[in-house]
Amino acid sequence: MAVVSTSVTGTGSQLSGHFSGLRKSFLNLDNSNSTHSFFQNVDSHLRLSSSRKGCRGVVTMAGSGKFFVGGNWKCNGTKDSISKLVSDLNSATLESDVDVVVTPPFVYLDQVKNTLIERIEIAAQNCWTGKGGAFTGEISVEQLKDLGCKWVILGHSERRHILGENNEFIGKKAAYALSQNLGVIACIGELLEEREAGKTFDICFQQMKAFADAVPSWDDIVIAYEPVWAIGTGKVATPEQAQEVHVAVRDWLSKNVTAEVASKTRIIYGGSVNAGNCAELAKKEDIDGFLVGGASLKGPEFATIINSVTSKKVAA
Ligand code: PEP
Repeated sequence: MAVVSTSVTGTGSQLSGHFSGLRKSFLNLDNSNSTHSFFQNVDSHLRLSSSRKGCRGVVTMAGSGKFFVGGNWKCNGTKDSISKLVSDLNSATLESDVDVVVTPPFVYLDQVKNTLIERIEIAAQNCWTGKGGAFTGEISVEQLKDLGCKWVILGHSERRHILGENNEFIGKKAAYALSQNLGVIACIGELLEEREAGKTFDICFQQMKAFADAVPSWDDIVIAYEPVWAIGTGKVATPEQAQEVHVAVRDWLSKNVTAEVASKTRIIYGGSVNAGNCAELAKKEDIDGFLVGGASLKGPEFATIINSVTSKKVAA
């Protein structure tokens, strides 16, 4: 049975303002029980208890990784609009305890890298499966690194379902990117009909397995759970729906990789995240950040989403 425990340094009435860290206090993933009882146990351990005096500061993070927020600009923007977006991001006040990444279209990567503050890293929206060469229209990992990219998004639903990329092809890209020290934002998520057919976990686990079969290490991977029905639709998953899948994915990592990887790997949520819903989502223990599409095209709104990390800062 998997248990996510929080600990506090005082009574509930003292739980305001002060932040003493985002790291989980305890994570014990035992493979012996069902996923169902896993969820029940997580729920029962999420409450802040005043009886646990003397423990170190509380967290609302089950994983031990730093909060991570990525902006996926997709196929949007012009030189001028991107210049304005960069300028808005450069002047935004951002919480420090967050990894922030933006993903401009390939053709603007250089412009963004040359004008954006270094505190925000840049990522690519795709890459080729191996070293560059005679692959018309593709962009190699080496070229992305040459431009200063630190990350690449792979397995995005638009590439899976519009461009027809399959699990094996995506896994190959991930393995090559990691071999060249490019971090991978590995997207998974079910279609609406798959959710309605009760196949959400099956689909997510198949996609996880394809990554796991291909990659040698999870050190530089962030998992983005993005239910396809929530992407670009305005229909955000409820915090409970997202948390449920994140817990299951963390449990899958524990059972199929290691408990350490399950704890360390960031599992971020994507799908119609905006300034209005990010705080409630961020409060969920297994939501380690966000991948944001539409709302990342507006600098102030993206900054609000980045700063939703404060929702996790609950302990005295
Ligand atoms: C995305 O494309 O990764 C995404 C989450 O888009 P949106 O936020 O617009 O739903």
